Amino acid sequence: THFGYREVPKQEKAKHVGQVFSSVASRYDLMNDLMSMGIHRLWKRFTIELSSVRPGHRILDIAGGTGDLTMQFADRVGTEGEVVLADINQEMLEVGRDRLIDRGYAGRVDYVQANAECLPFPDNYFNAVSIAFGLRNVTDQNLALREMTRVLKPGGKLLILEFSKPVNPLLNKAYDTYSFTALPLMGRLVAGDSESYQYLAESIRMHPDQETLKGMMEEAGLVQCKYHNMTGGIVALHAGIKP
Ligand code: SAM
Repeated sequence: THFGYREVPKQEKAKHVGQVFSSVASRYDLMNDLMSMGIHRLWKRFTIELSSVRPGHRILDIAGGTGDLTMQFADRVGTEGEVVLADINQEMLEVGRDRLIDRGYAGRVDYVQANAECLPFPDNYFNAVSIAFGLRNVTDQNLALREMTRVLKPGGKLLILEFSKPVNPLLNKAYDTYSFTALPLMGRLVAGDSESYQYLAESIRMHPDQETLKGMMEEAGLVQCKYHNMTGGIVALHAGIKP
């Protein structure tokens, strides 16, 4: 690829997140299907629908991991377009690259190891930037939002798919219980690692709610910011435009 990796100082959270994803990389897709009962596929499909990505577009899927969104973007941009799968974690990136090659995407996607807080891309480059279940893991989320905005072209769209706050208090309670019991248990049984899934539950609980994240996007300079709750607000898709 023609993009290089810029080194940034590692902080405590970054180190921990690194260990979590290195540990779960090989079981990541299976765990996603189990924990969300397959529903993450619908959340991702909706994200693609809302992206308004067209043939010839340049797309960055940051924190792209095993490439679920990346593949669908590659299908949309055609041969004239450009899709970059970027992730901070080498193991996740390798699992993603192997998987995309197996599925016939060889030569259609660029792979870049990069931190969302410090993107190795020029200003005003991409028609759309997506970050799916990634922002939660980033140490300085405001910085990442500014970086993602910087690399967007004017008129380009930022899409953030992330766990959010269930709108119904009862669902919120049930979901919290599920997160802190079922997730670590499944993590232990399937991936042999309950701690990583304990981290997942904690990071979901800590993540900014719908309105807070929308405000952060506006603060980063995006306009027309809005969100769509999915599955009762367990997940929200936020979108904003670079003016
Ligand atoms: N987007 C994929 C999906 O939806 O299935 C993967 C999501 S996975 C839960 C989160 C990913 O974020 C991991 O692959 C992790 O390595 C990556 N990540 C964590 N912190 C990051 C950062 N600061 N910059 C870029 N990627 C990061």
